[in-house]
Amino acid sequence: MSAALLEGKTIAAKIKEDLAKEVGRFKSKYNAVPTLANIQVGENSASAVYLKSQMRVAEKLGIEFQLHNLKEDSTQEDLIKYIDKLNDDQKVNGILVQMPLPKQMNPKDIPRHISPLKDVEGMHPENLGEVLSGKARIAPCTAMAAFELIRSTNIDLRGKEAVVVGHSEIVGKPVSLLLLDKFATVTTCHIGTGERGLLSDHVKRAEILVVAVGKAGLIKGEWIKKGAVVVDVGINRVGDKLVGDVEFDEASKRAAYITPVPGGVGPLTVTMLMRNVVEAFKAQKGA
Ligand code: NAP
Repeated sequence: MSAALLEGKTIAAKIKEDLAKEVGRFKSKYNAVPTLANIQVGENSASAVYLKSQMRVAEKLGIEFQLHNLKEDSTQEDLIKYIDKLNDDQKVNGILVQMPLPKQMNPKDIPRHISPLKDVEGMHPENLGEVLSGKARIAPCTAMAAFELIRSTNIDLRGKEAVVVGHSEIVGKPVSLLLLDKFATVTTCHIGTGERGLLSDHVKRAEILVVAVGKAGLIKGEWIKKGAVVVDVGINRVGDKLVGDVEFDEASKRAAYITPVPGGVGPLTVTMLMRNVVEAFKAQKGA
């Protein structure tokens, strides 16, 4: 058996089409379009690709994109003051602080300073709390992208064995909650699971597997259950190639569906960001 590919681009295309129509309707209804403000501190080649992709997708959807550059030697206080300014700016609907930040800053402290109504990455404690309640309007983009890819298979998640490897706030934890909300039986694995040598045991019984760690080859292809849905969020550079956390060739012989890396979760993440910008705009208009 060879798994069907879950390609982010294909799913993103339909969502983008709907978003573009919605933004078009805002123009006539509110005489305004959603505006996303991205704050970049210093220069970073790793974030340049993500930035370019945001600009391209925003333009395509009719979303206004602003880039705010702060100096590399800015302090945490400078950044927070700048965020406050954008929180008060009526024209700005969504705020994103581009990672990574220079070493003098603490990135974990940033989300709580962005107004929850403008927090388009879904990382403000209030928005993360809404994910817990199952009523989130805005949720972390990568977790939503992974979830949308699973949903695109139309597999009923109720009672399914879902295993999430990685427990970061940005991916592993929220994706676990999104799956739980659909009544999957969710196991979240992390470094402690790996340390006890139990990772393979959990992965082997996963009907739905999401991996978000950042270690090439962590998940052996032979561990994949026959017929599983495999979503590999990991991005690792090996030589001149980008690979995920799952051994793709062997895994795709066993899985029913699998995401390629690159081309799986990545292309959908930016679309989820834009969907959050549209949701933030609507919430601010009381729609
Ligand atoms: P992260 O914050 O570093 O989290 C990694 C997680 O993996 C942590 O929960 C860590 O546990 C766990 N872990 C580490 N080693 C492990 C092991 N041997 N066995 C089991 N769990 C282990 O990373 P992240 O931000 O969630 O990102 C994860 C990956 O996704 C990275 O490769 C990143 O580049 C990629 N990513 C892709 C996108 C996209 O759009 N495609 C977006 C975001 C991230 P501890 O914290 O306890 O050590």
